[in-house]
Amino acid sequence: MITIHPRNKPTQPSEADKTTPETAVPVTTPETPRPSKVIAVVNQKGGVGKTTTAINLAAALALEGLPTLLIDCDPQANTTGGLGFARDDARPSIYDLLMGHHPADKIIVPTDVDNLSLIPGSKNLIGANLELVAQDRREYRLRDALAPIRANYPFILLDCPPALDLLTLNSLVAADGLLVPMQAEYFALEGISELMSTLDRVTQSFNSTLALEGVLLTMYDDRTNLALQVTENLKAFFNDKLLTTNIPRNIRLAEAPSHGKPVSLYDPKSRGAEAYRELAFEILTRNNLESPEAKRRKAAAAAAASSLKSFNKPEKKSRFWSSSK
Ligand code: ATP
Ligand code: MG
Repeated sequence: MITIHPRNKPTQPSEADKTTPETAVPVTTPETPRPSKVIAVVNQKGGVGKTTTAINLAAALALEGLPTLLIDCDPQANTTGGLGFARDDARPSIYDLLMGHHPADKIIVPTDVDNLSLIPGSKNLIGANLELVAQDRREYRLRDALAPIRANYPFILLDCPPALDLLTLNSLVAADGLLVPMQAEYFALEGISELMSTLDRVTQSFNSTLALEGVLLTMYDDRTNLALQVTENLKAFFNDKLLTTNIPRNIRLAEAPSHGKPVSLYDPKSRGAEAYRELAFEILTRNNLESPEAKRRKAAAAAAASSLKSFNKPEKKSRFWSSSK
């Protein structure tokens, strides 16, 4: 039987958790939903699908018509490479943002996906953990740097490194929600207690509005007994924080980064693309948001239904027809 220590069981969000954080400036255009939401994709375990989730969830939200900013907070810079950007340590990156060399709007670059922008990563970040120690407000550097541009993006996603270091702490302090990808296997459960107690500590000391957005099962294979048993245990532990969307193991998801594209552009009909679209819908529903594309689809369906109705309506009988009766 697989168990997780109940001491670190996540609590249900309070009403206060659901409100707009202090730094979120109200969004002004009627199309963009509010509040603007910063989601850190985090798990200190390596290779669980953080980067794959950050890229493909961000792309799916952007393709729903929501301006989305993806931030590569990992010195490995896999998100940056996975979106087709060459690794270039001279290009302004998240490192420069954290060090205060440039404001966010000078570092953001557009991507090939409509509505998706990126703050690139860089291997300069390797030194940032040490350099940050000497800086003022070292835990708040990312939060402070994002404050002026938050209102421009309904969603900001942070791809975190596989560590609970000062870089990840900056992401947790800047975030409203944590999205935790994990594989449904025995060892994946290790470290979850540590992550949950980190969440508690951050909530108490730095960011009282941080909450668990959800736990996402990745590379999922529901044909194995182990996957089903782990899912059952996680459901008991996380309750409704375990997302209902699972991401299946899908080769297209693994191939897409080498083509510099999210799966939604590389192979939009693949199971992987479909799963990340479903995840975007689940995140939107959980945040009571309707995307511009969903509104457009609804209006198109209503227009189609009404034209079908008028097409099916029996025409007025002609006088000729009625008189010949
Ligand atoms: P790290 O901790 O090193 O940053 P990560 O948690 O970001 O890793 P990824 O880089 O997203 O993990 O994924 C690890 C590997 O698994 C990659 O080669 C990726 O292509 C592959 N992968 C991730 N998700 C899937 C999936 N659903 N199906 C198939 N392959 C996947
Ligand atoms: Mg990664």
